[in-house]
Amino acid sequence: MKNLILNGFRPDRFISCHVVHPVLKMLNVSGGVPILMYHNISWERGGHPIPYFETNTFPSVFEEHMRFLAAEGYKPAGLECLIATGAEKTGSKHVVITFDDGYLDFYRNAFPILRRHGATATVFLPTGYISTPRKMFKQRPCLNWNEIRELSQNGISFGSHSQSHGELRNLCPKGMEDELRISKEIIENMTGMPVHSFSYPYAFPQAQKDFVRLYRAALIDAGYKFGVTTRIGLNSRDSDFLTLKRIPASSHDDPLLFAAKLEGAYDWLHSLQTLFKKSRELSAMEF
Ligand SMILES: [Zn+2]
Repeated sequence: MKNLILNGFRPDRFISCHVVHPVLKMLNVSGGVPILMYHNISWERGGHPIPYFETNTFPSVFEEHMRFLAAEGYKPAGLECLIATGAEKTGSKHVVITFDDGYLDFYRNAFPILRRHGATATVFLPTGYISTPRKMFKQRPCLNWNEIRELSQNGISFGSHSQSHGELRNLCPKGMEDELRISKEIIENMTGMPVHSFSYPYAFPQAQKDFVRLYRAALIDAGYKFGVTTRIGLNSRDSDFLTLKRIPASSHDDPLLFAAKLEGAYDWLHSLQTLFKKSRELSAMEF
């Protein structure tokens, strides 16, 4: 795996592994429940030059992640584990494994590995790109409904990732409501299982308070109990269940960085995310 990691210096990795993680360990701070965010599990070389933005995970690295979780006593669970236990307070180590975009490589590459490790996962589907016959999203093949039904019968949960995978904040309220409602109905009809969770497409506009208020209300109206986002961090039973944070994972997560992320040593990036988004909002208002 060493040769998968870029040789260049990565400030986010250095600070997380060598500054924040040792301090958290020294202070014996326990972080909460990590919700891992994967996209592709494939052998394709990642497209992004900056590791932070990489969304592909090589199957060998994904298997290493699953092995690491098992060795460290993490129990893969659904999002309901946040309600059930408040994991950080009871000492049980839950982890939620999620996949965005509903790619075929989940069925081919991720599912066999998850099954080997007795792990469950939640896959978020952009329903406009899910069909039989198969459709493509971002030039990659998506799951079809036969595969989704098979996965559903084998312990994999499905949530919505909207209908069109559009920027919800650019839609009128009715447009956003339709995206949430229609995608949920389609998945429920096609799998026969209730859908309780939604994954916000693209970067979550956490600094746009008015939008976040509208979005939360629309999720509740549509019948969702959980919403996950790209906000970085761990969660507890005190978190806002409709705007849950996640931990991005990819081929660049070597064991040291993966361990640091799972224990909250990557969460400092959330403050940077917020700062960056706020400054962008302010500069947009000035011009
Ligand atoms: Zn997506």
